[in-house]
Amino acid sequence: MIVVLKQNPNRDQLDSLISWLQEKGIIIHTSLGEAHTILGLVGDTSKLDIDLIAALDIVEDVKRVQEPYKNANRKFHPEDTVIPVGNTQIGGGTLTIMAGPCSVESEAQVVAIAKAVKASGATMLRGGAFKPRTSPYSFQGLGATGLEYLKVAKQETGLPIVTELMDLSQLPLFKDVDVIQIGARNMQNFDLLKAVGHQDKPVMIKRGMSATYEEWLMSAEYVMAGGNENVILCERGIRTFEHYTRNTLDLAAIPVMRKLTHLPIIIDPSHATGKSWLVDPLAMGAVAIGADGLQIEVHNDPARALCDGSQSLKPDAFDPLARKLLALHAAMKSMEE
Ligand code: PEP
Ligand code: MN
Repeated sequence: MIVVLKQNPNRDQLDSLISWLQEKGIIIHTSLGEAHTILGLVGDTSKLDIDLIAALDIVEDVKRVQEPYKNANRKFHPEDTVIPVGNTQIGGGTLTIMAGPCSVESEAQVVAIAKAVKASGATMLRGGAFKPRTSPYSFQGLGATGLEYLKVAKQETGLPIVTELMDLSQLPLFKDVDVIQIGARNMQNFDLLKAVGHQDKPVMIKRGMSATYEEWLMSAEYVMAGGNENVILCERGIRTFEHYTRNTLDLAAIPVMRKLTHLPIIIDPSHATGKSWLVDPLAMGAVAIGADGLQIEVHNDPARALCDGSQSLKPDAFDPLARKLLALHAAMKSMEE
């Protein structure tokens, strides 16, 4: 971190800043310029409050030269993280395809969809039991019963389950869940992040609709700081001025995350676009750019879905897409070899 001081800083204030930083174990390199004095701070600056330092009377400007996230940072962990899930894995050159309904609606529905998506090549079953809905009058999910139906679908197909945890109190119900999803609306629910950091199931963090890359990675850092290193990032579209699509899919997140972090990155083209006909091209784009996987909503009867029917693919549209995604992924891998 670099601290640029104002001209002729008050000596007492400067001494107290320096001793405060030294008490925190920071080593200070001072460079005296004609106009400004610059302090180079060396050591673990991740716990320093940059805004607090910037607000001091004697400080002109503060710049971080190192990111505030450590565990998630590729600089400190150059190898890609590979997360074992059931008898598959996320990351490490595989293509994870999570597919299933937005919401679990009945046992028959989720079992039928699970069988269909598995036959098409999906590697995990998604389905919401606890649903974060914008309106309190919308279907809120089947809750614990929905988790039971997901468990039946898992037993029948062998597909691992990914489902959203909305509140700490639901955690004891998640015994049979393989990957805990933290939804976009909860990306900065720090108590929830801390709690999932203290348990050992992998956690997939969806990007908040207005979250920067750094904020998203700091959410991953919360989970990892608790000891859980198995974190997956999921880009699901961000809110922009464009209303034609539900959100705007930020595909640049794939190479940017690849550079900044070692964690796997999954793309959700369903919530990103809100339109089923856009899922195919954006899913293909995501694989072409190098995503570790996709999360795609599939419903047997989208017109009657209790949630997100407009963006859900029928199994007969998901099938050719999944095959194309796997073929594209295989072709790309063979080009790398
Ligand atoms: C979901 O996956 O069903 C969901 C609600 O996603 P998001 O948190 O990205 O809106
Ligand atoms: Mn949904």
